[in-house]
Amino acid sequence: MPPVKIITKKIIYKLSYYFQIHRFLRNLNKNKVQILFYHGFSNEKNNFFSKFSDSKHLQIKKFHSQMKYLKNKYNIISLKQFVDSHKNGKKFPLYSLIITMDDGYLSNYSLAYPILKKLNIPATIFLTTSFVNQKEFLWMDRVEYALALARPNHYRLNVHDQKLLLDLRNDDLKLKSLKKIKSLIKSEPQGLRLKFIAELESLLKNKLTLNEKTPEIYLPLDWHQVQKMVEKELVSIGGHTHTHAILTKCSPKELKKELSLAKKIIEKNIKIKLLPFAYPNGTVKDFNKQIQSYLKQLNYSCALTTMSGFNNKKTDLFELRRIAVDDRMDWIEFIMNISGFRYLLLRLLKI
Ligand SMILES: [Zn+2]
Repeated sequence: MPPVKIITKKIIYKLSYYFQIHRFLRNLNKNKVQILFYHGFSNEKNNFFSKFSDSKHLQIKKFHSQMKYLKNKYNIISLKQFVDSHKNGKKFPLYSLIITMDDGYLSNYSLAYPILKKLNIPATIFLTTSFVNQKEFLWMDRVEYALALARPNHYRLNVHDQKLLLDLRNDDLKLKSLKKIKSLIKSEPQGLRLKFIAELESLLKNKLTLNEKTPEIYLPLDWHQVQKMVEKELVSIGGHTHTHAILTKCSPKELKKELSLAKKIIEKNIKIKLLPFAYPNGTVKDFNKQIQSYLKQLNYSCALTTMSGFNNKKTDLFELRRIAVDDRMDWIEFIMNISGFRYLLLRLLKI
């Protein structure tokens, strides 16, 4: 975001906070249910690799403060409680809020879980099963890692007979290239995406592998940790595909494998049958009716998007809205966003 826009945004948020707009909005939205989503967590303020990960690893101190605030101001319910009430036409508790985490990072257990336990807060973790099961790193993380450690230089890569020029002379240029690569390969079929990433890793001579030097933020949960969290019934588990594939780019065969294999692996390891699901990437372009119908056939209980907004009894259970929380957000932005302020701004800007 250009600096002028960032400053304007900060001023709008600060003024609205000062005039207590969040209190008014929180009350206005008290009958709706909001679902927050997180990814990983980090212990350090300036983790070198976090810088390249689009702020998806939240400082654990921030998470702790957020949970204490939410525990005070909201009714934190489990996703299952919400789905059951939705199906039975029951009313949701006022100020209902649900915590979710995507992908299956180790830090969900090592850093976030002790806080959830201490405050008795339920959460749902959506697992990418090849990440947890086979320690196959997430494709987004592989790209980030390869670029983060690349020697400062210009590089050339062939994509569909076109030459892609990568200017990686400093960290800012690396971040720009990272954005470009991610948006380019997101729309590729799964096989081509993985082929591209393998070529990128060999060009930049950096491959994310599992050893004692692997940066902690990239590590997955293991099944023992998942089982320990599930046993206490505070954490529940959902599916997030097998390889974090963008489902609308999968062939029918790949789609079936991504959804059914993930479910089979999770069920085998935690012995729970009815699982919720979260679409990788989760925007309106990342799912469709065919995918939803297959999720229903497989007996997934609901599906969560990353589309911003609140949920009520009319919201389609396979198009649930969520609100993202990441490390870019300061305290004011967090309070304002969960009150519904960002969603309101987005809607006003569309008019
Ligand atoms: Zn994800």
